[in-house]
Order: sequence, then structure tokens, then C-alpha cells
Amino acid sequence: MSAPIGLHDLTKQVEETTCCVVGGGPAGAMLALLLARQGVEVTLLEAHRDFERDFRGDTLHASAMEILDEIGLADRLLGLRHAKVRHFTVPTKGGAFTFDLFAGLRTKFPYIVVMAQSRFLEFITEEAKRYPNFRLVMGGRVEELLEEDGVVRGVRYRGRDGWHEVHATLTVGADGRFSKVRKLAGFEPIKTSSPIDVLWFRISRREDDPKEALAARVGSGLFLVFINRFDYWQVGCTIVKGSYKEVRAAGLGRLRRSLARVAPEWADRFDELKETKQIPVLSVEVSRLKRWHKPGLLLIGDAAHVMSPVGGVGINYAIQDAVVAAGVVGEKLRTRTPVREQDLAEVQRRRELPTRVIQTFQSLAQRGVARGVLSSEDERAFAVPRFVLPLLKSPRLLAIPARFLSFGLRPPRVETGKEIATRAEDDSSFELPPKMRRKNN
Ligand SMILES: Cc1cc2nc3c(=O)[nH]c(=O)nc-3n(C[C@H](O)[C@H](O)[C@H](O)COP(=O)(O)OP(=O)(O)OC[C@H]3O[C@@H](n4cnc5c(N)ncnc54)[C@H](O)[C@@H]3O)c2cc1C
Repeated sequence: MSAPIGLHDLTKQVEETTCCVVGGGPAGAMLALLLARQGVEVTLLEAHRDFERDFRGDTLHASAMEILDEIGLADRLLGLRHAKVRHFTVPTKGGAFTFDLFAGLRTKFPYIVVMAQSRFLEFITEEAKRYPNFRLVMGGRVEELLEEDGVVRGVRYRGRDGWHEVHATLTVGADGRFSKVRKLAGFEPIKTSSPIDVLWFRISRREDDPKEALAARVGSGLFLVFINRFDYWQVGCTIVKGSYKEVRAAGLGRLRRSLARVAPEWADRFDELKETKQIPVLSVEVSRLKRWHKPGLLLIGDAAHVMSPVGGVGINYAIQDAVVAAGVVGEKLRTRTPVREQDLAEVQRRRELPTRVIQTFQSLAQRGVARGVLSSEDERAFAVPRFVLPLLKSPRLLAIPARFLSFGLRPPRVETGKEIATRAEDDSSFELPPKMRRKNN
């Protein structure tokens, strides 16, 4: 629902800002930081009171690390607790085969960084707090868009102490897969059917557990991914879409036995799963918006294109969206030059193809996973096809999928001040604000 400005008598406070970013996930936090660095007044609204949440991925690929390196943060980030994943083990007919996926990849970061997303988001927002033009509101849940003459002028949110309004030149919806902003704007995503769902739960971790940061196991109709979160294991258990009812009807005891058969190293730990509420089911979705914008409003990250967990790339695409958005609108916002809808369309134009390509890959991979899960039902070992083995043994050949996974298509760079200034000169719509115009005349 959208509402005219000032409608709610109950509104406690009205704040003016230049850019209001809704959602403190990777897309929103990163965009807010990049804009703050550029000198833009930015308010970041996050519905939760902290960054600790269950449904979060933990992987940062080389593209995200290079972006962080460009703004001087990569080394400090790597000072936080994390693990690096280079090697993967796959079952083959001749036994397990381990390979270094990134051996042939040319980058300073030839690995996947596995880090609790909550730590990552804290790090990014702490960094943003160094800028006086940045404001973070935790526990601020956006419920309404403010619109005037068909232009979005900000949001109304419910905070701990009641209703607030933020008036903004640009509002960015970065509020994830269930985006409220998207709904309020009346945008309907185009959904691609997914053949899988994920059960998402934690089990405790012990010193003598496998040391990998990421481990996968397949069998008994399940595909398990274990993410080492140091204090515990986060487990993603892929099942065939719609089979959750059967899993539930068969009882937790049966699920625990199946899990223990597929991953015997953790067998005793599955006894910790005593209630179904410990095992939320995630309906895996891949969807995208036809249009990511309307006057005064831009959607980025999962709000614009919901990513499947397959490949663990959603965070990286969200960060890349933020980089492009900051590059396209940052300078205009800083100089208070009107942001036209075609600027917002430019963000979509640059990001849509890379997103659609990776989503197509995710859809195909999901089908492969579903087939693997189904074929593992009869307890025969799931094995990678024989023709794939030569690829896994060649760093040069592996560099092709590794590059695609790590960077995707057209990975963006953070523009330098000089590049932004040159682009502003080339863009005839870049009007200097009246104060600066007077100075220049
Ligand atoms: C189970 C699961 C596992 C995944 N694993 C990985 C992985 O390992 N690696 C990877 O790269 N990707 C993974 N993904 C995908 C990845 O999590 C998303 O693609 C990524 O988080 C998208 O980032 P975002 O910032 O767009 O949205 P989100 O991360 O969803 O962030 C949106 C933020 O907006 C806030 N919000 C929502 N509504 C409001 C509101 N009304 N007002 C204010 N704030 C609001 C939310 O609280 C949230 O903090 C996984 C996804 C799932 C579901």
C-alpha cells in the first residue's frame, strides 16, 4: 500500500535524506556504504534488530572480494573469522576425487571465503558508520511507500517507538526475496519453477569433525551441504520439491536415520533434531522482475531477482548490483542532480543479463541436483559422469567454470572519483546544483 506524505497522525518523526535504502542485507548494506563513501546522505533501514538470522548464505566469491579490495576493505575483512574453500570432493565410480576448483583462476582471491553473513554485514555497516552522512536504523520495518504525483518520495516504517517517515530523493528496495517494497510498488515477479526445496537446520560441531569449511554428501534421496560456522554446522538438505509433507509424515526418526546413512561422520549429531520446528523448510525460488524501477524507486538484489542457493552466488550478485547502482546514481545524488527514471533503467540494463544468465545456470543445476537426489533414492552411490573427470583434472579447463562462478558475466568495478567525474561531464543531464553553478559562473 502506498500513502501520501503526512497521512499518519501517529507518525512520530519525519526525517529527510537523499537516499533511503530498505533492507540491510548484502545489497542494501553495500549500497549504503558505497553511497556514504561518495558523500551521499543515506539512511539504511533494517527490519531486524540485529544481523543474526538463520536463512542466510555465507559465501563470498572472488568478485565480492575484489570489490572489497578496491575500496580497501578486503584485508581487514580477512582478519575476521573465516575459512577459505579451494578444494571440492566429488564421488566418482572409482571413488572420491578432490580437485582445486580455482587453481587456474587469475585473481588475488582464488577461493571462496566462508564467513558468517552476520559478521560480514556488521563489518560493512560499521565501516559505513565512519561517515557522518550515513544513518542506520535497526528494527525499522518499512510498511508503506510515500508517493506524490506517481513518484516515490520515501517510506513509512514502524520502529521500536512507533511510526516514522523518511523522505528521500531516491528509495532503494533491497529487502530480499519477500520484498515488501516490491509488493508495495505493485511489481509482480516472473517465477521459474524449481524442482527442489531445502531443509535448513543446525547441528553442533566437535573438534574431531571433518575440517572442511563446506562439505557435501548425496544419498537416500537427500543432498546435504554442511557449512562450517565454527561453533556449529549449518546444514542445507535438498529434497525434491513438494516431498516435505512425505518427509514429515514419515517422522523425524526416519529423517534422522536417512541423514545418518548419507553422512555417517555426523550420525550422532542428528539426534539433536527432536522437533520439526528445528528444521524449517525453504521453498527454493528463482524469479525476476521485468522492471526494477519506477520514478523515485529502484529495486536491487533478491528484491529484483530472487536467487536460488545453488552455487552460493546470491550475495555476490547482490553486491554487484549495489556497485552498479552506486556508480550510476551516486554522483547525481551527491550533487542533488535529479535522478531520472532512465538512470534507474540503466542499472537494470547493466545487471539484467548477468543475472538472467546465472539464474538459467541455477535452474539447470537445480534440475541436475533433483535428478541426483532422485537417483540416490535406491541407495546406489551418486557419481559424477565419467566425461567430467578430465575437466576436473585440468586447471586451465576448470578456470572456465571457476571464472563463471566467481565473477559471472560483466563483473562491475567500483568507479574511482575520476571516472565518475568524467562520466558526469559526458552526461548532459548532469546539472550542477544551483549553488555550484553560481560558483562556476
Ligand atoms: C537458505 C539459503 C541459503 C543461501 N546460501 C547462499 C550462500 O551460501 N551464498 C550466497 O551467495 N547466497 C546464498 N543464498 C542467497 C542469498 O542469501 C541471497 O541471494 C542474498 O542474501 C540476497 O541479498 P539481498 O541483500 O538482496 O537480500 P537479503 O539478504 O534477503 O537481505 C534483505 C534484508 O532486508 C530486510 N528486510 C526485509 N523486509 C524489510 C522491510 N519491510 N523493512 C526493512 N528491512 C526489511 C531483511 O531483514 C534482510 O536483512 C542463500 C539463500 C538462502 C535462502
